[in-house]
Amino acid sequence: MEQVDCVVIGAGVVGLAVARALAQAGREVLILEAEAAIGTGTSSRNSEVIHAGIYYPQGSLKARLCVAGRDALYAFCDSHGVPYRSCGKLIVATNASQLAGLDALQAHALANGVDDLRRLHADEVKTLEPQLNAVAGLLSPSTGIVDSHALMLALQGDAEAAGALLALHAPVTAMAVMDAGLRVEVGGDAAMTLLAASVINCAGHAAPEIAARTAGLAAESVPARYFAKGSYFSLASATPFHHLVYPLPEPGGLGVHLTLDLGGQARFGPDVEWVDGLDYTMDESRADRFYATIRRYWPGLPDGALQPAYTGIRPKISGPGEPAADFRIDGPAEHGVAGLVNLFGIESPGLTAALAIADEVCQRLAQEARTS
Ligand SMILES: Cc1cc2nc3c(=O)[nH]c(=O)nc-3n(C[C@H](O)[C@H](O)[C@H](O)COP(=O)(O)OP(=O)(O)OC[C@H]3O[C@@H](n4cnc5c(N)ncnc54)[C@H](O)[C@@H]3O)c2cc1C
Repeated sequence: MEQVDCVVIGAGVVGLAVARALAQAGREVLILEAEAAIGTGTSSRNSEVIHAGIYYPQGSLKARLCVAGRDALYAFCDSHGVPYRSCGKLIVATNASQLAGLDALQAHALANGVDDLRRLHADEVKTLEPQLNAVAGLLSPSTGIVDSHALMLALQGDAEAAGALLALHAPVTAMAVMDAGLRVEVGGDAAMTLLAASVINCAGHAAPEIAARTAGLAAESVPARYFAKGSYFSLASATPFHHLVYPLPEPGGLGVHLTLDLGGQARFGPDVEWVDGLDYTMDESRADRFYATIRRYWPGLPDGALQPAYTGIRPKISGPGEPAADFRIDGPAEHGVAGLVNLFGIESPGLTAALAIADEVCQRLAQEARTS
């Protein structure tokens, strides 16, 4: 059986960031990716927004790692030439009944360490974005957009420069807890059996399934998985907006918002549709609901302006009607298996938080090394 120090399962933005951090810390790292290329999962089906950290429950991993990850991400983009833009975002109240919600959101953000939100009157919103219908707004200057694929390539480049190896077409099919580490069964082109001292399971939607196929890991340590699809429609014409525009959040997501890509194209979404599995097919009839929702804040949206774009699916570990679960970074302290870290429920803001998640994983492994 081949021996390796660390195996990272999955080459999405989180797996690549984890592999980079471990390799730069001097560990031998092998990244196993099931598909033919990096970043074909959730990491390429999202809004590409660098979140400020406004929404998440105080004290949660999402809140802490979003703020830390955002700062780390801007610095990383600067040092690695990854395209991004700090375009800022407006969260708008479209009627007086939402004003209390806006106040609550601002207070919540402050408690999370997001201290740069500015409260705007209706006329200030109009000055920034003349087409918006709003009675008030919040401006988040530290929200931005990033080229997620360029980010992943830069993470891969750093990881490889520090000695990490990437195997594509290398799906992990099962694992087993051994005395000297974890046995990792790999299928596909690179079929083999490995013995790894550490395994970091960053397989996104598949992470719970891989954990369930880990002999020696207690079943209680594996969460149920749920899938919440989000559809996006792009704007056929040029956008009149310069900022990202968000309504107040809705259950399961942040509400159908307007984001921009670095080419200046506007898109709306994602909405929330609970589905049974990973089916990225788009139901174009959802456009009807988009028109109605968007016109609450942009009454001038022309008929026929929305074009189906793409879908993404949130890797949820809490189901419909349940409170949104926090990120789960389960290390030995949580499940009792030395060397194993399972990452579950890495939905938004996972892209923003990736570098901070990687630091967190390294800290948990280092903690284990100190206490063993
Ligand atoms: C609709 C939507 C919008 C979002 N918008 C934002 C946003 O604007 N800002 C933000 O910060 N976050 C956003 N997110 C969240 C963000 O996209 C994710 O948190 C992040 O991409 C998760 O990355 P990952 O590496 O954990 O997962 P993934 O990108 O899914 O990577 C997992 C990898 O594991 C591989 N894999 C699976 N099974 C196996 C196996 N058995 N063996 C080996 N490899 C395997 C997959 O092929 C894949 O490459 C959004 C998410 C969604 C769904």
